[in-house]
Amino acid sequence: MRERLLITDSMPKEISRPAGAADELIRALRPLLAADRLRPGIPLAPYTTFRIGGPADVLYDATSADDLATAVTAARSAGIPWFVLGLGANILIGDQGFRGLVIRNRAAELEYPREGAISAGSGGVIANLIAEAVRKGLSGLEHYVGIPSTVGGAVWQNLHFLSPAPERARTMFIAEVVESVDLLTAAGVRQTVSAAEMRFGYDTSRLHDSGEIALAVTFALTHGDEAAMRRIMQENLDWRGARHPHLDVEPSAGSIFKKIEGVGAGRLIDDCGLKGFRIGGAQISPLHANIIVNVGNATASDVRAVIAHAQSAVLARSGHHLEPEIGFVGEF
Ligand SMILES: Cc1cc2nc3c(=O)[nH]c(=O)nc-3n(C[C@H](O)[C@H](O)[C@H](O)COP(=O)(O)OP(=O)(O)OC[C@H]3O[C@@H](n4cnc5c(N)ncnc54)[C@H](O)[C@@H]3O)c2cc1C
Repeated sequence: MRERLLITDSMPKEISRPAGAADELIRALRPLLAADRLRPGIPLAPYTTFRIGGPADVLYDATSADDLATAVTAARSAGIPWFVLGLGANILIGDQGFRGLVIRNRAAELEYPREGAISAGSGGVIANLIAEAVRKGLSGLEHYVGIPSTVGGAVWQNLHFLSPAPERARTMFIAEVVESVDLLTAAGVRQTVSAAEMRFGYDTSRLHDSGEIALAVTFALTHGDEAAMRRIMQENLDWRGARHPHLDVEPSAGSIFKKIEGVGAGRLIDDCGLKGFRIGGAQISPLHANIIVNVGNATASDVRAVIAHAQSAVLARSGHHLEPEIGFVGEF
């Protein structure tokens, strides 16, 4: 087996599942990873914010940066398709699941390399990191409160949100507080690169095409007033609460389509009268037209059908092509 492109926005395809696939993978991985931590046939839906997705042939929880590097290296050397899963907040996993090894990243070590800097394992949850930074009076991460993400997912996609109220003058990016990233390269070498070398952009970084994995990220923060940080956090949570469906009631993957500068993907969908449009259990949120919510037992196919419908309606009405922002993972 060779490493495959695992994320694609191509249309669904039928791929049958060979019997005994998990056993074969476990046999290949056993010399490299602890067998009792290789879990066959685990449904992935509970590990995503959409609550959608079939089983992984094999799931492995990586509990430290070293463990994550070992698991990726093991899958590479055994020639097994693999995927690093954060909080599953920016992906749609196919109904047939993932053929290969899903490495759930729970590497959440924290270090304080110097005054004002925090180094976090890439599986650390951003919400926990924000709480830790604010407790220490360190400012820079609080803007991203309420966004489900691991540290690794945040650098993959260059997490962003609006600058503080009342102006909300610009979009802030997590890249602004990234000092460096510890990577496992495609060749299996560990390397620390600067933020500038990460090629951060809107919804992107070099991780999208380099085949590298983020093992840990060092953030350079500034000393801030705790009360001011807590005010920003509350205002951001209120802003989100008023405009976005609540994740605990209506699972989603956040914005589905990429931003269209000066137009807004959500507005184009809304102009087509599609708020509330539903196929199966997948619905365009009546609150926010760029968010698809799982209103009950939605399948990945339902979501793909809603995406296709929104794309063709918007193309016909305005000539704009809506490009998905989320990643499509596994077999649909
Ligand atoms: C309700 C909701 C609101 C949201 N609001 C926002 C918002 O305001 N701003 C915003 O920017 N985003 C937002 N998002 C999108 C999402 O939160 C971010 O994209 C987030 O960074 C995803 O992180 P994750 O850990 O869940 O990554 P996952 O979804 O698990 O993975 C996403 C991709 O990153 C890759 N990846 C993950 N970890 C690593 C690693 N260590 N090394 C290399 N690759 C890795 C995965 O392989 C995958 O390709 C929202 C999502 C939801 C559900």
